[in-house]
Amino acid sequence: MSREFQAEPFRIKTVEPIKMTTKEEREEAIQKAGFNTFLLDSKDVYIDLLTDSGTNAMSDYQWAGLMMGDEAYAGSKNWYNLEKAVQECFGFEYVVPTHQGRGAENILSQIMIKEGDYIPGNMYFTTTKAHQEFAGGTFRDVIIDKAHDSQAEHPFKGNVDLEKYQALIDEVGPERIPYICVAVTVNMAGGQPVSMENLRKVKEISDKYGIKVMFDATRCVENAYFIKEREEGYQDKSIAEILKEMMSYGDGATMSGKKDPLVNIGGFLAMNDEELYQRATQLVVVYEGMPTYGGMAGRDMEAMARGIYESLDYHYISHRVNQVRYLGEKLEAGGVPIVKPIGGHAIFVDAERFLSHLPREEFPAQALAANIYRDSGVRTMERGTVSAGRDKDGNNIFPKLETVRLTIPRRVYTYAHMDVVADSIINLYENREKIKGLRFAYEPPVLRFFTAKFEEIK
Ligand SMILES: *Cc1c(COP(=O)(O)O)cnc(C)c1O
Repeated sequence: MSREFQAEPFRIKTVEPIKMTTKEEREEAIQKAGFNTFLLDSKDVYIDLLTDSGTNAMSDYQWAGLMMGDEAYAGSKNWYNLEKAVQECFGFEYVVPTHQGRGAENILSQIMIKEGDYIPGNMYFTTTKAHQEFAGGTFRDVIIDKAHDSQAEHPFKGNVDLEKYQALIDEVGPERIPYICVAVTVNMAGGQPVSMENLRKVKEISDKYGIKVMFDATRCVENAYFIKEREEGYQDKSIAEILKEMMSYGDGATMSGKKDPLVNIGGFLAMNDEELYQRATQLVVVYEGMPTYGGMAGRDMEAMARGIYESLDYHYISHRVNQVRYLGEKLEAGGVPIVKPIGGHAIFVDAERFLSHLPREEFPAQALAANIYRDSGVRTMERGTVSAGRDKDGNNIFPKLETVRLTIPRRVYTYAHMDVVADSIINLYENREKIKGLRFAYEPPVLRFFTAKFEEIK
């Protein structure tokens, strides 16, 4: 490529003006928010990298689909379009619509997990684990060790450690493991992919013991792209073919429409087992809605059906992953410490190394996120000590990684926006000793990261 970046494979038809704030306005906003980026008003944010969940930009074809909404209570034509899209692209026979990913996780956990069961997974995800525990299960992490090391390079850092998986089977017995949950890609490890070879082996072991394989397919298209890029034998396969093969090593999947399916709300649960499907439909009417809408409007199902097909376009997904990579490489070139290798949906800045003059007790990641906003109006998120909370003795938990997450919404920002983000963070890095630590001004008892307020330590 003659240029440094892969130009956008789309043109812009509608624009949403964003507010350009002054230094004084940002100072007032961050003080008012108590140095917590969750408490900033969206209208005061210039570039919003808080999350890639539900922040996708839809295409003209998807927006046109909204006008085709068949808002019937039962048997909406949009439902059949969605069902067909999932069957064709994922290869599962039965589909249960849900309002978002956690709705699917709830139903899956309730129908498959019994009190005392164990659910292995390649690193935990907050809502997934919560639903497993709520259903009486215990989560066990079986991801490879390298996934927990921010500097370890591995092309498929999300892989299941087959020995850890086998050890758990030997320890508790296969009858206490209803399924293994395999996330593709692994969000909490930084958007790291799982290889096809690993999926094949996980399926082999699981089949041997009668354990089902259930995917957390939230970012499965990004995972398929990494397989095409990195795994031998897949360079000439299409993203659609790779996704279909990945899913063929599972018995079902939960999906958040807010991520790879390119919509703002929605989700589904899919599976091959008819008896399980029957049980899922019994619960979906209680928690979500009729099995032909599951908490979604007809128009939303249409947009997701169309988004699923669009997400498999090679030019779309390569642009997405490469845009994230561009930001990461630019930060690295500026000396900023980040989690490696660069994943599919986000860059994680290593705040502990960035602000090495601040002790963990002064929440370096929280301080960095607040100062990025202060500097440039870019909103990011703390993923470190504040997010981890306190243990049962009331002490701060210090997780291995103290990071600031820069999550890139799909099709929303340009490379010029990525430059603004990188320039701001590199500028802060060059003046990092001026950044002050924080202490709590208000600390809520649970999920403190959402609503806590802080003050600067002078
Ligand atoms: C977002 C997410 C979920 C939950 O989906 P929601 O639509 O937010 O309920 C589950 N797993 C992973 C890996 C996610 O990133």
